Amino acid sequence: MSWALALLGACILALAVIAVAHAALPGEIGPGQAQAAPMVEEIADEASPEPEGPPFLAFGEPVPGRKIISPWGLRKLPWEDHGRLHEGVDIAADAGAKVLAVADGVVVGRGVAGGYGTYIEVKHPGGLTSFYAHLGSVERKMRVGRAVAAGTPIARIGNGGTSTGPHLHLEIRNGGDPINPILFLNRRFATADDLPVEMAETVSPRVRLATVSTIPESKRALMAAKIAKAKAKNRRGRLPPDLRLAQLALQRSAD
Ligand SMILES: [Zn+2]
Repeated sequence: MSWALALLGACILALAVIAVAHAALPGEIGPGQAQAAPMVEEIADEASPEPEGPPFLAFGEPVPGRKIISPWGLRKLPWEDHGRLHEGVDIAADAGAKVLAVADGVVVGRGVAGGYGTYIEVKHPGGLTSFYAHLGSVERKMRVGRAVAAGTPIARIGNGGTSTGPHLHLEIRNGGDPINPILFLNRRFATADDLPVEMAETVSPRVRLATVSTIPESKRALMAAKIAKAKAKNRRGRLPPDLRLAQLALQRSAD
């Protein structure tokens, strides 16, 4: 029986060696060390160090140096009867100018859609997407599923869909809902919690009357009828100032 005892002894010794080796592995916390963890957390809280490495999300400009000519918010266009949400910002630029991805992401859509004309959509971390519309063209290699870095040319400025001249309509969406892009452009966010999503969802009740330089072709008949109706309503055939401007824009559009 001594051989069996010797084998058992050898097994116990081997297990003990494995246990010692395991306990000595660097970076592992044994049961006796678990109590030390909260202290480390407390020290981290007091120091609140700057997060290291790149920010969670950094936004640039889609057409660097070009101005926003129409902001996010309730807006009434000359051919409309009521104000409605302008779901993005309009940035004036020359037809053919490059449109850049505003942040790192993946192309999730491209195509042509009604009033938007040609568009491309890029999904970013944190559930946000950027949507670019009225485009002249989308870069051929920007297929759905392609990863893009911030600042990569993805499309060209155009005047497609319901548009009053060459410009970019840029939307930032949170899970499909449009939010105010102005709170994101040219800003960096260290963590997902820093994204000002709630603030960007807020819509001011003020409706802005938009003046336009031209009337889109698809709205010209509607605009002419609206002007004629307003003239007929007034005994002297006079128009209110916003419609007078719209009439000038209509005349300009017919050239
Ligand atoms: Zn727009």
